[in-house]
Amino acid sequence: MRLSKYFLPILKETPAEAQIASHRLMLRSGMVRQASAGIYSWLPMGFKVLRKLENIVHEEQQKAGHIPLLMPTLQSADLWRESGRYDDYGQEMLRVTDRHGRDMLYGPTNEELITDIFRSSVRSYKDLPLTLYHIQWKFRDEIRPRFGVMRGREFFMKDGYNFDLTEADALHAYNRHFVSYLRTYERMGLKAIPMKADTGPIGGDYSHEFLVLAETGESEVFYDASVTDMTFGDRAIDFSDHAALQSIYDEWTTPYARTDETHDADLFAKVPGTAQRTSRGIEVGQIFYFGTKYSEPMNAVVIDESGERVPVHMGSHGIGVSRLVGALIEANHDENGIIWPEGVTPFHAGIVNLKQGDTDADAACEGLYQGLLAKGLEPLYDDREERAGAKFASMDLIGLPWRVTVGPRGLKNGVVELTSRRTGESEEMSPQAAIDRIAQIYGRA
Ligand code: ATP
Ligand code: MG
Repeated sequence: MRLSKYFLPILKETPAEAQIASHRLMLRSGMVRQASAGIYSWLPMGFKVLRKLENIVHEEQQKAGHIPLLMPTLQSADLWRESGRYDDYGQEMLRVTDRHGRDMLYGPTNEELITDIFRSSVRSYKDLPLTLYHIQWKFRDEIRPRFGVMRGREFFMKDGYNFDLTEADALHAYNRHFVSYLRTYERMGLKAIPMKADTGPIGGDYSHEFLVLAETGESEVFYDASVTDMTFGDRAIDFSDHAALQSIYDEWTTPYARTDETHDADLFAKVPGTAQRTSRGIEVGQIFYFGTKYSEPMNAVVIDESGERVPVHMGSHGIGVSRLVGALIEANHDENGIIWPEGVTPFHAGIVNLKQGDTDADAACEGLYQGLLAKGLEPLYDDREERAGAKFASMDLIGLPWRVTVGPRGLKNGVVELTSRRTGESEEMSPQAAIDRIAQIYGRA
């Protein structure tokens, strides 16, 4: 993309309403624009990041054997009356009436709708296990939308639902989600720690939240410092192997890590004093096992091996995809702007032409631009007639991990400069070497 042809409405001033870094930086770098309280338009660069996160979530869910579909945003109130949640949900639910006077709602989550889909088509235990998920906009009329996309009213969420014959199978589904979430966040370049959590209005017996440590997080968390050193890495996993997944779950849940809702001071006291940590965290996902809480009232049953009708065991599992964009920036920025992890960056590298209109500089930039495209990468070429200082400031603000700086002086010696946004370190090399290095970093050599 050539910046002169793109739509990147960068703001010079820091918007007064933004209280935290990610909100400020998303507004300043032209990623989002507030449409009304807690509701945002995703401008091109923000939309690119959102799509990248969505793709990672899709890939990791499907590796775990979970099947994508798409349910609507508007739902009929009748289903929610069946589960008893229409009245329970309270004012966070946005209720609307259609022209025929029928009660509808903008879905805050989808347990009822998916259970209805399940019960209308699945009859036999032979069709289990089954996990269906979608990534769709949700609406919760939050009393205090704030921090930009972190606590919006309209937000983008992946929600998955497992249907199993037995509790043991449903707990295996729980573990599949647990492990696939570890992989998902790591691929995004994020450390999200699973913590034992309260089940809240969803109900149920088991729940874990995944939290990104950040001072601006809304949850208070207590943990053993050793958990922050754990990484999942690229271990090969067989998602159908019950014992293997259970052992990964055990490994990750052994160090103490809880939110304030489940915090147990006596247990925490057993963590060695030097390893005890209290801090704040951003909830980027949550998984639940809730047995037959929805299948019983909604009559989601299958015929089991002995011919008996039994309610299925269920769980639901969410990832806050739009909140993750904010959480990623909270965890990756400095005073000059965003620092995208390579796995989610909107463009792979920026090209800064220090002297637009100079024949050699223009030709070298064009060569770099085409060379990176040929490697299957997406460069952002700042080809505007701007001062070098302004171009650097924009690049730092939008935070692409790599920047190639091209100027007539370097070109006299046949070199351009490759700079890491994260470390600030620069290295001179030939334009071709810069292309090869960037391609290698992204695994496209
Ligand atoms: P919170 O406690 O932050 O209100 P929740 O526990 O009510 O969230 P869940 O029902 O667990 O939310 O939804 C799954 C995920 O969706 C959350 O882990 C979070 O990442 C995201 N999410 C929930 N509410 C919002 C919101 N208002 N804005 C953006 N993302 C949200
Ligand atoms: Mg939650």
